[in-house]
Amino acid sequence: MKQVEQPVAIQPQPIAAFGLTADNQYDKCVALARNLWWSWHAEVINLFRDLDPIRWRQLDHNPIALLSEFTPERLSMRAGELVLHSRINQAYRRLKEYVSEIPPWGRTHAGVLGSKPVAYFSLEFGVHESIPIYSGGLGVLSGDHIKSASGLGVPLVAVGLFYDQGYFKQHLDINGWQHEEYLNTKVENLPMEPALGTDGKPITVRIDTRAGKLLAKVWLMHVGRVRLYLLDCDVPSNNPEDRELTSRLYGGDNRTRIRQELVAGVGGVRALKALGIFPGVYHLNEGHSSFAILEAIRTRMKDDGMDFDVALRNVAQRTVFTTHTPVPAGHDRFDRNLIEEHIGPLRDELGISTEQLMGLGRVEPQNEHETFCMTVLGLKLSRRANAVSNLHGHVTRRMWAHLWPWRVEEEIPIGHITNGVHIQSWLAWQMQQLYDRHFPADWMHRMGEPDVWQDIHGIDPGELWETHYALKNLLLAFVRRRISRQCRRRGESDEAVEAARNILDPNILTLGFGRRFATYKRALMLLTDEDRLAEMVGDPKRPMQIIFAGKAHPADEPGRQLIQRIANLRHDPRFAGRIAFVEDYDINVCRHLIQGVDVWLNNPRRPLEASGTSGQKAVLNGALNLSILDGWWAEAYDGSNGFAIGNGTSHVDDRVTDARDAADLYRVLIEEVIPLYYDRDIDGLPRQWVKRMMNSISSLAWRFSADRMVADYVNHAYLPASGGVSCDMNVK
Ligand SMILES: *Cc1c(COP(=O)(O)O)cnc(C)c1O
Repeated sequence: MKQVEQPVAIQPQPIAAFGLTADNQYDKCVALARNLWWSWHAEVINLFRDLDPIRWRQLDHNPIALLSEFTPERLSMRAGELVLHSRINQAYRRLKEYVSEIPPWGRTHAGVLGSKPVAYFSLEFGVHESIPIYSGGLGVLSGDHIKSASGLGVPLVAVGLFYDQGYFKQHLDINGWQHEEYLNTKVENLPMEPALGTDGKPITVRIDTRAGKLLAKVWLMHVGRVRLYLLDCDVPSNNPEDRELTSRLYGGDNRTRIRQELVAGVGGVRALKALGIFPGVYHLNEGHSSFAILEAIRTRMKDDGMDFDVALRNVAQRTVFTTHTPVPAGHDRFDRNLIEEHIGPLRDELGISTEQLMGLGRVEPQNEHETFCMTVLGLKLSRRANAVSNLHGHVTRRMWAHLWPWRVEEEIPIGHITNGVHIQSWLAWQMQQLYDRHFPADWMHRMGEPDVWQDIHGIDPGELWETHYALKNLLLAFVRRRISRQCRRRGESDEAVEAARNILDPNILTLGFGRRFATYKRALMLLTDEDRLAEMVGDPKRPMQIIFAGKAHPADEPGRQLIQRIANLRHDPRFAGRIAFVEDYDINVCRHLIQGVDVWLNNPRRPLEASGTSGQKAVLNGALNLSILDGWWAEAYDGSNGFAIGNGTSHVDDRVTDARDAADLYRVLIEEVIPLYYDRDIDGLPRQWVKRMMNSISSLAWRFSADRMVADYVNHAYLPASGGVSCDMNVK
């Protein structure tokens, strides 16, 4: 291990307040809409909403689309009517200040990265529901990562792809069967602009394959202080098929996939160079972008005259690799032909043979039967690799142990940094107001510190409960609106639509389950014993209701069947009005759910949930987690800050595990959750429940925040990789 040095606090350049010179109300609103900073500031969101609440909802909370329906005169008039002027001025001033300064944390802790920023690669970014370039957890994590990097002032640029049709929109038909619809997003309604190169001209990158060239243009999106660059193959010089290469996320076959990954990885590194950005660290968020390493090596060889081995060591030292899943399907694999077609020309320049190249993507380099795995490439060519929770660290070391056959498991060089969530993006505004009243004045700047959150115990339990109850009512209103709209769209009867307006009851214990319908997540676990569930749901004194949401991958037939079974429960009189399926799970639906439910349920088959982050979002808003001891919950649960299903073990036979876990789920509900929720004092307040909400918030909010996560990446990965300080990741 190298000597630990103190970081040198050199002064990094603040990003310019790029053209923030608006002097009228309309231009100020447009400027606000063009930096995604607005998406985590409730006062700006409220401002846009107030301009036209109905259109705001109809336009998927997209402020640029909303403003395009206003003329400057009409906006000015509307602002006058609603007395919005000072709010607009103040929001604009805050944005301007925000982008022109670097906060103290970044100056002190990440200053050395200054002119050589971290380049963060991800194939998904979930920044806001109006920007359809994410599908689920991985994307939302990337979005939260860059928002926190912005807030802390970590010099970081992000690289991804622009998908104009994004991931699909989900609709269920009258039989509960999932249908997928792809939208055509209007680029002019998104906060993007062409990225300009050092010559002041829009950039196009070119990648040669054995079968021809691929071109991509580059968009720039501002996410607070962070610049997010998105590559887009929809350029006229590409052939028609390639123009659609980046249209859809997870939309094509393996050939589409490798071409997308080629564009993101190799194209991404070329784009940064054209922009005049020279990263000091490469952070590859999942194996999808591992080709970036090969291009970075090529660049070093070409620009600095290094030979392959030296360049490889040099780049590997500066590369951080994060792996996100123990599920085999989550690791892309390509056969030799696909690799040679796409990486062949790059391989020529690297001066290595096909066999050598294939070896970099194989656990056993000589094994001709092994396909090329992007995760293996990432693990082999990075000096620092990490999993995303403590438990996932153990699982990952075991999973890839054969890459280091001479090492014992504890010494496999893969550490862990547990995922966290961007608090401002997930915390309900009403909850934030409550914290503002009771927490230290600067708490929003110190959210990653434990002390700040201890003040929750000083809040009047009644006040916390009232706030939660108000949020729960908002959730129920949202669900009713959505369900009645779903019924209307399917052409159901007026009675059905009307009935949907009256489902659910705010005084009933409410469980939420929102996640992908992948089999290992076991969405049907609550239905294992349907009669028993019916008794619990219909209990006259202590009933229960459940809100489900989630998409199945289009090619996942079993996943679609799970959705169908849940969706059709509404026809069963035992569950009618008490079980709801909300279509089209996305950031917006997730936000409503985690802000309003009493209990957030997670019952994956251990240990397949690498981390999970939705439960962390629930914590912030006072919902209690009821979860298998998997992913983040295995290190979060302390006996009094939520509920655990099972004892953290699994059987070799999945059926045995599933049956045991289901039995324990019912037991915990019946013995712990339901009694605690309905145990009310004379004022109708569930005191012990509220105590548990407080324990959950005080013990978990700071630890599972993205601020803590990004700070960990800086200290344990970015600084050592950049040569700033050496401090290896906690390998347990
Ligand atoms: C947070 C989030 C996720 C990830 O949650 P998990 O707990 O990993 O399932 C997935 N999808 C959306 C839309 C989210 O907001």
